[in-house]
Formats: sequence, C-alpha cells, structure tokens
Amino acid sequence: MSDSDTDSPENASLRTPIVAVLGHVDHGKTSLLDQIRGSAVIEGEAGAITQHIGATAVPLDVISAIAGDLVDPDDFDLPGLLFIDTPGHHSFTTLRSRGGNLADIAILVVDVNDGFQPQTIEALDILQRSQTPFIVAANKIDTVPGWNPTDDAPIKPTYDKQSDRVRGDLDERLYEIIGELSDEGFSADLYWRVQHFQRNIGVVPVSAMTGEGVPDLLTVMMGLSQRYMREEMEIDVAGPGVGTVLEVKDEKGFGATVDIVLYDGTIRTDDTIVVGGTTEPIVTDVRALLQPRPLAEIRTESRFERVEQVDAAAGIKVAAPDLADAMAGAPVRVVRDRDIDDVIEEVEAELAEIAVETEEQGVVVKADTLGSLEAMADACGEAEIPIVRAEVGDVAPRDISVASTAEDTKQQVILGFNVDVLDDAAERAEIDDVRLFTDDVIYQLVEGYEDFVEELERAQQDTVLENITRPARFRILPDHVFRQNDPAVVGVEVNAGTLQNNERVVRFDGNQTERVGVVKGIQEQGEDVDEARAGNRVSVAIDGPTVGRQIHEDEELWIELPEKHAKILEQELAEEIPGDEREALNMYLDRHRKRDPFWGK
Ligand code: GDP
Repeated sequence: MSDSDTDSPENASLRTPIVAVLGHVDHGKTSLLDQIRGSAVIEGEAGAITQHIGATAVPLDVISAIAGDLVDPDDFDLPGLLFIDTPGHHSFTTLRSRGGNLADIAILVVDVNDGFQPQTIEALDILQRSQTPFIVAANKIDTVPGWNPTDDAPIKPTYDKQSDRVRGDLDERLYEIIGELSDEGFSADLYWRVQHFQRNIGVVPVSAMTGEGVPDLLTVMMGLSQRYMREEMEIDVAGPGVGTVLEVKDEKGFGATVDIVLYDGTIRTDDTIVVGGTTEPIVTDVRALLQPRPLAEIRTESRFERVEQVDAAAGIKVAAPDLADAMAGAPVRVVRDRDIDDVIEEVEAELAEIAVETEEQGVVVKADTLGSLEAMADACGEAEIPIVRAEVGDVAPRDISVASTAEDTKQQVILGFNVDVLDDAAERAEIDDVRLFTDDVIYQLVEGYEDFVEELERAQQDTVLENITRPARFRILPDHVFRQNDPAVVGVEVNAGTLQNNERVVRFDGNQTERVGVVKGIQEQGEDVDEARAGNRVSVAIDGPTVGRQIHEDEELWIELPEKHAKILEQELAEEIPGDEREALNMYLDRHRKRDPFWGK
C-alpha cells in the first residue's frame, strides 16, 4: 500500500477509470475498441477481461501483458481501465455524472488519411467544455502506402522498421493532425515528446486493424490516469451506489430496464433506487442485476446472468418496476440506509443542474439524452437561439403544437438532435407549417437552422422592399414638356433613388412638401417600364398638375415617402438599398427634420 492510502476513508478503494472513445464516423472507434478487447482476450489467458453491460473492463495485468516493456505493473495501483462500449460523442455526452462527464478520460480517434472532420471538431469542443483529459489516436497508420506491419507491436519498433519514404509519409500526416489540433487551440505533440499530459495533448499513432500502437495507447491511458486521476478514483466501495443511465431498454421477461454505469459505491439486488425520470424521479426496488453471459454460455435461455452485487466502476443492467419513464443520461442513486427524501432531493438537484433554461418565445429542442440536450442548449445559447421548450425524446405531435404557437415564423421550428420524428408528428408539422430540423451533428443542426433564418429574413426584407415606397429625386428636363396636363407628360432625369409608377409626386416648398400629383406611367425610349433608376432619362406621365402652374421645367421633384416607410427604410433597410437611394432618403429626411426633428423616428 502506498502512503497516500493512510488518509483515505475506511472503505476506500481505487476504482477503474472510465474511458470513452470519440471521433468522426468511420475513423475507427468501433474497430479500436474491438482491437483492444481482442488483444485483451488473447493476452488475458485466465479470461481476465470482463464484459459488462455497455462497457469492457481491462484489468492492469492484461494491460501490462499487452504493453510488454512499456508498462511496469509496479508503477500502478489503479485496477485497470473500463472502456465504454458505445463509441461516439453522442454516448459521451450522455455519460454525465455529478457535475461533469462520467468518462474520466477519452480517446479521440482521427483517421490519418482523413484528418479533421466535422465530428472531430465537435468532439473536441465537447471534450474542452467538459474538461475531460484526452489523447488522440491517429488511426489507420497501416494504410500509409508501403506500410510493413508487425501485428500488435508498439509504435517505436514498427516505425523504425519502415522505409524512409513510408516514415516520411506518416510523419507528414501526423504533423497535419498536430497542426489541426493547434488550429483548434490545443497544443499537441507525438505522445513520447509530451511531458505534461495536462498541458499538451499526446498523439499516439495506431492501427485498429493490425493492433500496432495499441500497447502505447493503453500505456499512455494508464499513465495519464495514474498520474493525474488517482485521487479522484478513491471511492467508498461499500457505500450506496451512484451511476448514470446509459440507455432505457425493454427486455423480454423484465419489461423496461436501465443500463447504467455505476461510478461510485455498490448496488445490490435488495436495494431501493431513485432514477431520474422524464417527469419526476422514479423510486423503485431493484428486481435483478444483470450482466451479459460469457460467450461460451451464450446458448442458454437468457443472454443475461444475474448477479447479487456490483462495485464501481461497472456497467450493469438493472431490472426494476416503473422504469419506462427513466431518462438516458439521468442519475441513479441507491438509497440504502439513508432517508429516501434526501436521495430524491439529490437526484432532483442533479436533474435541475442539467435543466435547460427556457424563454417565453423560442424554438423547441429535442434530443435523445439529457447530456445531448444540454450540449444542444449550450450550442443554441452560443448562437443566440432562444429555446421555448427542451426535452429528451423523439419529436411527437405535442412538440409540433408547441412550435406552431410561436409568434415568429423563425421560431415555428423544432431542432431534433439524434432523435426520430414520429409519423403523426411529421404529418402535423406539414399541416401546421412547422419546420423540422434533425441532424446527428450539433453544429450542422444549428447551422442548418441559421441558414433557414437568414433566408427567411432575406425573403421578408424582399417583400418589405417590394411594398415600400422607394425614395427618388428627379428633375424635369428643359424643353421636354410633351403634354401640359391630364396627365402632364414630361421628360425627367432621375438624380438619385428609384422612380416608381403609381407613387405620389411632391415638391419642396422650403422644408415643407407640397403634393403635386401621382406617377401614371413611365416610358424609357418609347417602352413602358415600372421604374427608373438613378441616371436614367425617361418620360413620365404625372396625373394632377399642369406644367407651368404646379410644376415647371428644370424643377426638382420628389417621390413622397410616407413617414412610416421613411422610418423602415432608415432603420431596417438602409443596408439593403443602393447608395444613391440612401442619399435621396437622407436628403429627404434632412429636409423634414429641419421642420420636425423627430420626423420618421
Ligand atoms: P467508427 O464509425 O469510427 O466506429 O469506425 P469503424 O470502426 O466502424 O471503422 C470504419 C472502417 O474503417 C471499417 O471498415 C474498418 O474496418 C476500417 N478501419 C478502422 N480502423 C482501421 C485501421 O486501423 N486500418 C484500416 N486499414 N482500416 C481500419
């Protein structure tokens, strides 16, 4: 026993660090987990790895057998590593624990051929936000052209064995990944050059296919945990269990069950537990604790085997009544000798911590788990997208009802992350004109919505512009009076703005406007047109005035801007209209404001 154990609690024991694997789709997360499990099965002759529900435990002696010279088991007192079997940041975000992420460390898998991809960046973002230490597995090194593999070898000897060209090729790809990490704000280097894994990210070249570099990966993970996480791994093993729901599943013969990861204490078959539910905490008695049967016994009637007790860290299926409403990502707590109300309160407090703040008006957000809901809410917060309702679960008709009541079309929207849209909900959405956005990459979901908003706003501005009177200043050209009145027809030059048909014409008398008539036709070189832009010379029919009385040759005239239109133009559309039109608008406003400083404000 090391010295540090002397001041530990009485039942203190060191639990296994929990490891999650993240990365872009097809970069090799599943293969890497399979490779680790496979190597562990081969090396652990006594069948030393244990398959948990949703997780695989690889004990220290197996790691040291795989790692060979890289690991001296005497350097470690942590019992090994527990790998979460469902890879991807989706399950990672689900895996919350009190105040943080359930995974103690993570492996970010990056394909050396493919480099950084959207989900790589998203995973990095999640890792950073949850402050989870991680290393990067630069995967598929065996695909470097000319690679000469040595199965299951540590990276150094296999790297040295390659030709200069192959080594150079691999180096280039590795440095690209290091560069990309740096672009994202992480200082990183090849793992053997990293001194402080807390400050720098170690990059480990691996092949999930050949197992090369896997010894290094396990060694680094073990070292990282031992060095930086040992204290956090001290738990009271005999204490009441604490865990997180990974998944809610119907199981034949058991009804709704929850797969949980227990990260503290124990859970026993005679325990009462409190589980976070969609509406309120569920209080229930454990009926059975189930582990997968070892492969050899798979032919027996049940895939599961009952166990009496499980210690953290472990993945376990819990069968108990009333679990149908349990939520993925929600906390689970064993009551044992405590006051049940206290435990309910604890669960409620944890749920409240994850609860998403909602506004009076906003979009509806749905996500598959509490953790992903929280990540969605964060992303919406950053993008300044208000949320009216945020819930775990598939998109259902009642979500459509809520979204359809939004006042703003931009908010008649549902953002669904990693969820399905129920058939009747899709129909309702169609009828109620509610827009559904679904994706399994958060930032793509947010971007998709932002594009939609932008397009909507542009369309709205276009209609406003179409219906708004545009400013125009024009002058009657000398010797271009074609008709005196009924209507007066004169040649004009548009000096600024857009002269449009059917608009009112005014002249300024000092700073006062005086209506002189209405445009009743514009002709450019003998052709009827709807409008004339600055610089155009056109002939205009003006209904109302008589040339020589109300209007005169060489006189400046204006299109009348109703005050409301002037205000919208100045305050909302100034960026949308051409410069000359803005100039005409400003002159028009200036004149009016000399008379009334608040005109159009
Ligand atoms: P995931 O989506 O990240 O879980 O990726 P998978 O583990 O399913 O791998 C995607 C594909 O890449 C599969 O066809 C794997 O066989 C292949 N693959 C994964 N790792 C390696 C590797 O190290 N080398 C080679 N050559 N192929 C790999």
